[in-house]
Amino acid sequence: MKILISNDDGYQAPGIVALYETLKEVAEVEVIAPEQNNSAKSNALTLHSPLSVTRASNGFRYVNGTPADCVHIALTGLLGYRPDLVISGINNGANMGDDTIYSGTVGAAMEGFLFGIPAIAFSQVDKNWGHLASAALKARDLILQMSHQNLVGINPWLLNVNMPNLPFDEMGHVKLCRLGRRHAAEAVITQMNPRGETMYWIGAAGPVKDEAEGTDFHATAQGYISMTPLKVDLTDHDNLGYWAQTAARLMAAPPV
Ligand code: MN
Repeated sequence: MKILISNDDGYQAPGIVALYETLKEVAEVEVIAPEQNNSAKSNALTLHSPLSVTRASNGFRYVNGTPADCVHIALTGLLGYRPDLVISGINNGANMGDDTIYSGTVGAAMEGFLFGIPAIAFSQVDKNWGHLASAALKARDLILQMSHQNLVGINPWLLNVNMPNLPFDEMGHVKLCRLGRRHAAEAVITQMNPRGETMYWIGAAGPVKDEAEGTDFHATAQGYISMTPLKVDLTDHDNLGYWAQTAARLMAAPPV
């Protein structure tokens, strides 16, 4: 099994190091990850400046770009082969509910999925790497199970996995979940710069809005590992009928 690992916390983050150290015992693993923290970069690609790739002393390669850049250039020329699996993480903090839209961790995995490769984004629910070794072992167990079930290297799929920061034996099993929802983000934070101009800082993510049973928020709060299959198609399929009628009315209406 050949695995490409990336993340959004940067190539020196403890989460990616732990994942690499754990997975290299069971697979051929390469790390290509951003040089800097790239939180909330989603699927962004760098189109207007060149990307450089540097080999770190531990063998990891880092890129002066986004998580999606890393996976994109890896799969379109840098690796020179097709990995069986793209893994992203382990992220420093939750990527649940609406977080998945913004998440660079998910973005890196999604880039693999877009190239037809199965991909998993792993995150720890709480920041600061508590019980990171346990999370890495759980990630490895899940990957090995999927490999043994012949789910790796054939049809692409995209999974978002969040793990509670618990010791290995206290972590619950994997629960299949839908994404929960968050409220809109907190207000923007303003500061005055030394020249008397206002600066704006993006506020914190909103509090949880939908944490009902069946959501990722609910499962991880109960100590389980949440696993949510993601898709890329943003079409509102449920409301296509409504919009068909509305679009017909709009097109039939006289110019305003
Ligand atoms: Mn991150």
